[in-house]
Amino acid sequence: MYPKDLLKLIHYLKKLSGVGAKTAERFAFELIKYSDFELDDLGDLFKDLKKNIVHCSVCGCLIAENICKFCDSNLRDSKKICIVSSFRDVFLLEKTKTYNGFYHILETLISPIEGKEIDEENIIRLKKRIENFSISEVIIALDSTIEGDATSLYIKEELLDYKVNVSRLAFGLPMGTSLDYIDGVTLSQAFVGRQSF
Ligand SMILES: [Zn+2]
Repeated sequence: MYPKDLLKLIHYLKKLSGVGAKTAERFAFELIKYSDFELDDLGDLFKDLKKNIVHCSVCGCLIAENICKFCDSNLRDSKKICIVSSFRDVFLLEKTKTYNGFYHILETLISPIEGKEIDEENIIRLKKRIENFSISEVIIALDSTIEGDATSLYIKEELLDYKVNVSRLAFGLPMGTSLDYIDGVTLSQAFVGRQSF
């Protein structure tokens, strides 16, 4: 039987997506071999993770300080908002250098299969931003999946009363495509070729 703390470590590693029991065990044994300094450093990092990496209360992006560079209207085009499902997608889009507007992170998408609903508060925040900045275009950059489609339709309906152009990325890719899996050039093309929705 493994020592208690080793079992605990394996338990936490196994919670990561895509990590099975065997891999978790392998990772745990690797971690044990780290130097004392590295483990201390890692421990401190984990301890302050939630304190040092926070969500911007406006757009939802992960930020280090209280100032969000993605919400600064001096740096960004304040007439456009791009809706994404996670900060990772913001990162992917920023890399393509095709977009310089605001972002709005949803975090949860509608899932008819899992019975997940949209966070109403989040949509209220989105509507307020559209009003406050007289936004002219809302670009939906959600995955081409059942969840992405259901959520896109929902947002479109919610914004019907607003004088805003709603567009969605032109994937030209099969159903089930996640932003994570397309390369920068394809993503950039999908962005430039976005269509009214
Ligand atoms: Zn922000």
